[in-house]
Amino acid sequence: MKIIMLGAPGAGKGTQAMMLAEKYSIPHISTGDIFRANIKNGTELGRKAKAYIDAGALVPDELTIDLVMDRLVSDDCANGFILDGFPRTINQAKKLTEALTKSSGEIDWAIDVEVPDEDIINRMSGRRMCPSCGASYHIAHIPPKKEDICDHCGAELYIREDDKEETVKKRLAVYHEQTQPLIDYYSSLDRVITIDGTKAMDAVFKAITEKLGD
Ligand code: AMP
Repeated sequence: MKIIMLGAPGAGKGTQAMMLAEKYSIPHISTGDIFRANIKNGTELGRKAKAYIDAGALVPDELTIDLVMDRLVSDDCANGFILDGFPRTINQAKKLTEALTKSSGEIDWAIDVEVPDEDIINRMSGRRMCPSCGASYHIAHIPPKKEDICDHCGAELYIREDDKEETVKKRLAVYHEQTQPLIDYYSSLDRVITIDGTKAMDAVFKAITEKLGD
C-alpha cells in the first residue's frame, strides 16, 4: 500500500503515519525526520536545511525531491510506504507521480487529516519530540508514561525550535499557500480520504483504517 499523509503541520499526521506503518508493515518515511537527523549529524544537507526549517519555510525542492526518490527505491519500499511530509508542493507531487508511474504505479491513498488552525496552534505548544527515534507526544493528549522521557527508546524529549508560536503561524501560512493545493491535485486522481483530525488519536486511527478497508 502506498500512502501519502496530507494535512497541516501539527494535524497529527506523523503519529498516524507511525501507527499505520506498524499496522501494515511498511516503512514510515518522514522528510522532516530525515532533515532533523541530518541536522543532528551535522551533514551538509542538515546545514543547508536548518535555516529554512527554523524559519518555518519549506526546504527547496532541489534538496528534497532526490532525497525522497532515492529512499523510495530501497528494498523495504517494495510493498509500499507511508510518506509523511512529502509531497508538500505541486512540483514535488508531480515528480512523485512521474517516478511512481515509471515503477510501481500511482499512490493508493492521500489521507488528509483536517484540523482547524486555532487547534493546531494550541496543540503545537504542548508537543514534545524524541530526538532519538522521532516519536512525538503531547503533554495533554498523548503524554509519555514518564514525564519528558520517550516510551519507545528512553531518550529525553525536547520541544522543536519550529514549534514556537510565531513559527507555527508562518508554517500554517506556507501550508495553506503551497501544500493545501495538493488536496485538489490528489482529488483529481480520485485518491483523497478526508479524516476529521480533531478527534482522539485512536478514533482518528480507527477512522483511517476503516476507510482503507482494514
Ligand atoms: P515536518 O516534521 O514534516 O513538519 O517538517 C519539518 C520541516 O522540514 C518543515 O517545516 C519544512 O521546513 C521541512 N520539510 C519537511 N518536508 C518537506 C518537504 N517535502 N518539502 C520542503 N520542506 C520540507
